[in-house]
Amino acid sequence: MTDPRHSIRLDDFQQLIGTMYGSRDVARGVDGTFMWLMEEVGELAEALRKGTQQDRLEEFADVLAWLTTIANVVGIDLSEAIIRKYGSGCPGCGQLDCQCDQAEKP
Ligand SMILES: [Zn+2]
Repeated sequence: MTDPRHSIRLDDFQQLIGTMYGSRDVARGVDGTFMWLMEEVGELAEALRKGTQQDRLEEFADVLAWLTTIANVVGIDLSEAIIRKYGSGCPGCGQLDCQCDQAEKP
């Protein structure tokens, strides 16, 4: 299926995931869903190491989809979360071009 869109807003993606999988995600619960996310993270690692660009494209999409699913299950608005934490720059130093010490996490 070819989709003419070249971009999607994060809140639209979260709503799409909820529409497609919301009821089964809630039934599975956060623990089972988190396990799926971890499995997909493993598949992304493999794709990054030895996969094709097509493999990587698919695994990035899967990881983001499962992360989004967990946010839906626990009632977190991802757009709000990202704006709150990163909307004004690096949460560590407050700069748009991070000036944190290289040894620190950001
Ligand atoms: Zn910083």
